[in-house]
Amino acid sequence: MGRRDRVVVVTGASSGIGRACALRFAEAGGALVVTARRADALEELATECRGRGADVLVAPADVTDAEAMDRVAAETVARFGRVDVWVNNAGVNMYGRTEEVPARLWHRVVETNLFGVYHGTRAVLPWFREQGGGTLINVSSVLGHTGFPQQSAYAASKHGIRALSDCVRQESLDVKGIVVCTVLPGPVDTPLFRVAANWTGRKVVPPGRPVSADRVAAQVLRCADHPRREVPVGGASRFGVLAARIVPGMVERAGARVLSRQHFADQPTAPSEGNLFEPPDFGARVDDGWRAGSRRRSRLSRALLVTGLLLGVAAVIATARAGVAGQPIVGRYAR
Ligand code: NDP
Repeated sequence: MGRRDRVVVVTGASSGIGRACALRFAEAGGALVVTARRADALEELATECRGRGADVLVAPADVTDAEAMDRVAAETVARFGRVDVWVNNAGVNMYGRTEEVPARLWHRVVETNLFGVYHGTRAVLPWFREQGGGTLINVSSVLGHTGFPQQSAYAASKHGIRALSDCVRQESLDVKGIVVCTVLPGPVDTPLFRVAANWTGRKVVPPGRPVSADRVAAQVLRCADHPRREVPVGGASRFGVLAARIVPGMVERAGARVLSRQHFADQPTAPSEGNLFEPPDFGARVDDGWRAGSRRRSRLSRALLVTGLLLGVAAVIATARAGVAGQPIVGRYAR
């Protein structure tokens, strides 16, 4: 199937990574279905995508609604005859201590991020089976491999997305054409941080120097062309995923003591539910300007990265010597 005949669905297309994916897929041609809650933002995006050569269907939906996702899949097939690539990208974020954030907010993050991916997956799989193939791309995170203080709901949902992807990949082995990819970005310059629910009392900023949403979109497109099981995006993610496997305790301590300091500004903020229940009336854009203001923090990130890489290399050597390659060598809890 050539790129020009491909039918692609992108969830969470109204802003950030999803919007960047839609624009990139549009450039490649073919048919595109864009979905999110904000219909006006999707219409504006559709006009831009049509200008790049794609045939676009706007299908507003909330990913927490299983039937709405079924309808998106059915409308796609009714309009374009098939669905070749489905990108489960929609997601929300929340900051706050596990015991302090209201339970309904914690539930809502998992409902959106994990159940949202589940709803998209169960909506499209029957069509993939019927047509004998299709590519499912699920957007998880580096936090699908490790934890992070004050982000338990987010990290739990992102771990869940990896597990769901792995199970579906196994369940689909009987249909050769079905492939499942999990994308694992590190920090990305999108409105996600600005619209996140926040129960910490401090303003959230992305840690280190985030990569551009377009860079993630490029990897999503690569998955559509050349599927891979898991694709970390950005140096922070590649390193984080590797280090979490080799030295998990060290990564936890680094996250708790160093990176979390980078993640919050001194500016106080009132508790906010962010965009968890209602979409914001701003932020329907790809980038959010974080990369421009992150030069100072990036020096610290680079120092951390170099230190981490050295630790990682040392750990690999130690692991190989111990003859237990692939097993964590720092598995104990450290306080
Ligand atoms: P944005 O906030 O820019 O985009 C999130 C998208 O999800 C929006 O289009 C939003 O649209 C949509 N969305 C949110 N809630 C719902 C809902 N209930 N139903 C339907 N759509 C919804 O964030 P990003 O682009 O950064 O995030 C995209 C994905 O990438 C997420 O899964 C995120 O976890 C992941 N990711 C992001 C990273 C980052 O640093 N930015 C790092 C790692 C992973 P609308 O409000 O119109 O519904």
